[in-house]
Amino acid sequence: MAEAVTIALQKSGRLSEDSVDLISHCGIKINRRNGRLKVSASNFPLEVLFLRDDDIPEYVADGVADIGIVGQNLVHEKEREVRTLETLGFSRCRLSIAVPKAEAYQGPQSLSGKTIATTYIRSLERFLKENAISAKVREIQGSTEIAPGIGLADAICDLVSTGGTLLAHGLREVEVLLESEAVLIACPQLAAEKQRIVDDMLFRLRSVLKAKESKYILMNIPNEALGVVLPLLPGLRSPTVLPLAESGWSSVHTVINENDFWGKIDELKKAGAEGILVCPIEKVIS
Ligand code: ATP
Ligand code: ZN
Repeated sequence: MAEAVTIALQKSGRLSEDSVDLISHCGIKINRRNGRLKVSASNFPLEVLFLRDDDIPEYVADGVADIGIVGQNLVHEKEREVRTLETLGFSRCRLSIAVPKAEAYQGPQSLSGKTIATTYIRSLERFLKENAISAKVREIQGSTEIAPGIGLADAICDLVSTGGTLLAHGLREVEVLLESEAVLIACPQLAAEKQRIVDDMLFRLRSVLKAKESKYILMNIPNEALGVVLPLLPGLRSPTVLPLAESGWSSVHTVINENDFWGKIDELKKAGAEGILVCPIEKVIS
């Protein structure tokens, strides 16, 4: 049998579902039955290892897995040598320092002499060193946000997404050490055959990611407004313009980044665009 590439994914947690969805949107079928830790894809040379996310950077650096999906926060923390192949746009969060709400804070110096609880020891120590601050780092496993309330620490360093958890524990975010999202990482040395498979997968993956941020839009435009509307709508090459059955009107179709689209909607309406449809796209092959 030809060689397969091994990918490490988080077994269960915040990354798991999006990671498995991404693989399946690439047209790769993995059948995850009864909690097995190793699964082979049925239609692509890929084996999936389900692990704790903390182990993924190490396994990929050592070549136990060839590639993996993990948060940038863990790549930063584990300091293992891996190549980042692509950012994936999910599991966005930041690694931040938070202090009790009522505590005065005038920049990193305010942390001097304090005890900071975290599971992100290396990332925190690096931050303190860069800012020349001497503070005590206290390693704890999970539920970091309760540490100040029970007298374990003066501040915490932890992952934040909405900030709701901090607020609920009477804490406020004062420093952002790192912005993070999920990334596809690879072992620094991959055999040529495996690299070819990874490249094939990356090509599919980029088509899926590109499609996610693109929308297919259709609208009716009075012909005299085409000169104003078309420059607003770049498209993959250029927009498609088709005559409507009613004379004097055209249907304009194009692909646009969703974020750009919302910025242009007022101008389009002002120019006389009607019946605007915005449709999802499954893949963009370029
Ligand atoms: P495991 O059992 O695999 O070790 P875990 O409890 O360490 O799981 P999760 O809480 O599932 O990890 O988080 C996995 C990743 O999801 C984090 O490393 C981070 O990249 C991302 N993430 C996104 N938002 C948040 C958040 N608000 N809190 C924690 N992690 C987040
Ligand atoms: Zn973890």
